[in-house]
Amino acid sequence: MEIIREIQAMKEWVRAARKKGETVCLVPTMGYLHEGHLDLMRMGRPLADHLVISIFVNPTQFGAGEDLDRYPRDLPRDIELSESVGVECIFHPEASEMYPPDYCTYVNVENITSGLCGASRPGHFRGVATVVAKLFNIVEPDIAIFGEKDYQQLAVLKKMVEDLNMNVQILAHPTVRENDGLAMSSRNKYLTPEQRKNALVLFWTLKAARERVKQGERSAAVLKSEAATMIEQVPECTIDYVDIVDPVLLTPLERIEDRAVMALAVKVGTTRLIDNMTLEA
Ligand code: AMP
Repeated sequence: MEIIREIQAMKEWVRAARKKGETVCLVPTMGYLHEGHLDLMRMGRPLADHLVISIFVNPTQFGAGEDLDRYPRDLPRDIELSESVGVECIFHPEASEMYPPDYCTYVNVENITSGLCGASRPGHFRGVATVVAKLFNIVEPDIAIFGEKDYQQLAVLKKMVEDLNMNVQILAHPTVRENDGLAMSSRNKYLTPEQRKNALVLFWTLKAARERVKQGERSAAVLKSEAATMIEQVPECTIDYVDIVDPVLLTPLERIEDRAVMALAVKVGTTRLIDNMTLEA
């Protein structure tokens, strides 16, 4: 497996493949890989001739006071894990390679970035869209795979590709969970054993809401208030947002007519976790 740190070298690697008419699938990550990431790679492996991943903790998507400096990293382990699922090449640039001192171009996807994580993390999706646009220009993938765990991110990137006429097909992978339901996340590492138990409230709350919709509840206000009550009862859990939105536009819904997405962001201690689930009437 190859580990490529320079943009030019990555472009040349891809060009050589493209010259032979071969296709490329890209799975962008920030590393510290878990089974969720690996499942995205397993999904991508048979879809193209080449499977490339990126490992890059992207500074422009972190706000001031967020966890950029302490974001977990373990490259040797990431290399071993990605090799085990058939990754051929890891693009792992330095921040200074991606953002030289004179860097000044950003991609701003409007409207669908205004709510949910976009509201509580100003500038976050500008950073995400910018780095993914750069990765697409460098790796020129035919296919790129993202997880539904980061539901708004997926929606934002689909919109960016549509609006900017990018030649890449975005595919989604369902959220991968631990056996007890906690959505896998590199940030779960921050949780103490006690917080790890408390963090299950995100999954339980989503499951309860899904059940309530099955039973006939249609009011988003009622569902959100029930969800908030569940979360607030758990020690160390503070709500960042509880929302019910249109699955494509991410606009807030008042009633569940057919499909909706409930999205949560909850701080467990100091660790901010997100999760979401589709609600079907
Ligand atoms: P990250 O390294 O957190 O930036 O995630 C890289 C990619 O993996 C993104 O497309 C995420 O949505 C996806 N991902 C992370 N955790 C999960 C999970 N538990 N299930 C599915 N996809 C995930």
